[in-house]
Amino acid sequence: MDNPIVKGGSFLIEDLEPQAIFTPEDFTEDHRMIGKTARDFIDREVMPKLSQIEEQQWDITLGLMKKAGELGLLSVDVPEKYGGLGLDKTSSMLVAEAFGKSGSFAVTYGDQTGIGTLPIVFFGTEQQKEKYLAKFATAEWFTSYSLTEPNSGSDAISIRTTAALSPDKKYYTLNGSKNFLTNAGIADFYITFAKIDGQQFTSFIVPKGLPGITLGKEEKKMGIKGSSTRTMILENVQVPVENVLGEIGKGHKIAFNILNFGRFKLGASAIGGSKGVIADAIKYAKTRKQFGKAIAEFGLIQHKLAEMAIRIFAGESMVYRTAGLIDTALAHVNREGADASTQILKGIEEYAVECSILKVAGSEILDYVVDEGVQIFGGYGFMEEYPVARPYRDSRINRIFEGTNEINRLLITGMLLKRAMKGELPLMQKAQQLIGEITGFQDDADSSDMRLVRGAKKTALFAAGIAVQKYGTAFEEEQEVIGHISDIIMQIYAMESVLLRVQKMKEAAPIYQDIVRTFVNDAILQIEIHAKQILAAVAEGDSLKTYLLALRKLLKHTPINTIPCRRRIAAQLLERESYLV
Ligand SMILES: Cc1cc2nc3c(=O)[nH]c(=O)nc-3n(C[C@H](O)[C@H](O)[C@H](O)COP(=O)(O)OP(=O)(O)OC[C@H]3O[C@@H](n4cnc5c(N)ncnc54)[C@H](O)[C@@H]3O)c2cc1C
Repeated sequence: MDNPIVKGGSFLIEDLEPQAIFTPEDFTEDHRMIGKTARDFIDREVMPKLSQIEEQQWDITLGLMKKAGELGLLSVDVPEKYGGLGLDKTSSMLVAEAFGKSGSFAVTYGDQTGIGTLPIVFFGTEQQKEKYLAKFATAEWFTSYSLTEPNSGSDAISIRTTAALSPDKKYYTLNGSKNFLTNAGIADFYITFAKIDGQQFTSFIVPKGLPGITLGKEEKKMGIKGSSTRTMILENVQVPVENVLGEIGKGHKIAFNILNFGRFKLGASAIGGSKGVIADAIKYAKTRKQFGKAIAEFGLIQHKLAEMAIRIFAGESMVYRTAGLIDTALAHVNREGADASTQILKGIEEYAVECSILKVAGSEILDYVVDEGVQIFGGYGFMEEYPVARPYRDSRINRIFEGTNEINRLLITGMLLKRAMKGELPLMQKAQQLIGEITGFQDDADSSDMRLVRGAKKTALFAAGIAVQKYGTAFEEEQEVIGHISDIIMQIYAMESVLLRVQKMKEAAPIYQDIVRTFVNDAILQIEIHAKQILAAVAEGDSLKTYLLALRKLLKHTPINTIPCRRRIAAQLLERESYLV
């Protein structure tokens, strides 16, 4: 990866050449091998046992996790020094993607390798890393992440669990209750958050056997039924001081930084899940006959199949573009250096905006795909013995955990604004410049897709700039406006990732041209709706008219006829009987 390091969020203000982004077509032989190992493991070992996993036969889940450990699939993000493979983030995403279609099992794996292990990778002492990481990476020990409490979900900083240092300073006494803990029933250790003396937000590694810990019953869930989810009550639990994780009073850094990577992985996993469902839907559409024809011959079914593939392609392009950004940044970190973990964490944090985009976009792509998947199966889609009911139920949680999609939408714009205020990204200057030039915007004769991407970027800056100008310090109270801005930003990242990826292909097959044209066409229409909502909220009368005129020039385009594009895409899918790549 020879590309220069680019700043997170800078895609909004910089125009890139196709060569500047990483795409799935750039995977190395090693990437392909780890992806194949993970896919083979899931297809051959996990999928045949999914119903036993769903019935919570924990010995099956634990056995499969151990097998995954033997294959190295649990240690991709664990440094070599501590018994892991220490691979790049592209490899990590390939494994997460492969696991995606296994639903519950993917959640068990994601918790173990992500939010369960990474707090120690990034914040643990040498002794903690040596003690825990190799055992987590082989599934000899299981781990669970316990932040959420009955009264503290999205507002995670408001947790009430307390910790008090003993008079002899040998242990902390923890009291409180945690809920919705993934892997709670199988865990040997809980990465738990509590406030020392009710003030200092701190993380602790809590072993399961300590007196005073009580686990609730397995929750009865709508989906991911094969993953363990339980509450945990802590009553005067004495946790040795050496089990404090990271700095006292800095637990929020662990809680929030780890989520960035979790969101990134969730995006990749959702794309993998989507690929599984589209393959089942294609096969079914070819065989199910109504009105004397395979339903795949009907335009409305072709539309659904094509749209699924287009959205998956967009998600996949964003996931691996972001993996490339992070790997490029991390390539400069000295893995042997004492501060390697801190540097790696900083590298990931730089792309926190992109990680939130992937979380929201990935989970919403998967929700679209499973919903239309059920529709293609008709009444059979509603029946448990057909393959789409489970992914339909399993998908829904992805919009809720790792920060709800509402919270992540607020974060996307909020984090960009913060970076702009700190002078890290010249977003405000660019926005001011655009607002100043508003009446002079020229009609652009260039009708290329790239011109539309540039117009969309200007639209985001101009609409956000006007909103910030209008609301000033009260901007963050205007959640609906922020939501629209974030939706525009997400569409831009997707649109540009799709376009640059296809431009980078040496000889892009016609299907990819159809995907780009359809995606850009529809994204611009969406962006226009969001921008109009923002402008109508912040202006009226002549100002609104001026802004709308400027918007028309920025997004000027003639809609294309996407029907033949989608029909051709569907024809290719039906021929291949799977997603494209
Ligand atoms: C199956 C499952 C597994 C889980 N696994 C874990 C785990 O392993 N570890 C762990 O710590 N937690 C876990 N969670 C908890 C999960 O992270 C929380 O459920 C999630 O963060 C949301 O918190 P909440 O449920 O309290 O909802 P709330 O925070 O009460 O949110 C309710 C609604 O209000 C919205 N909302 C909240 N605040 C705002 C705001 N400021 N602006 C606009 N809208 C807002 C939310 O988006 C949501 O739509 C899990 C949850 C489930 C269901």
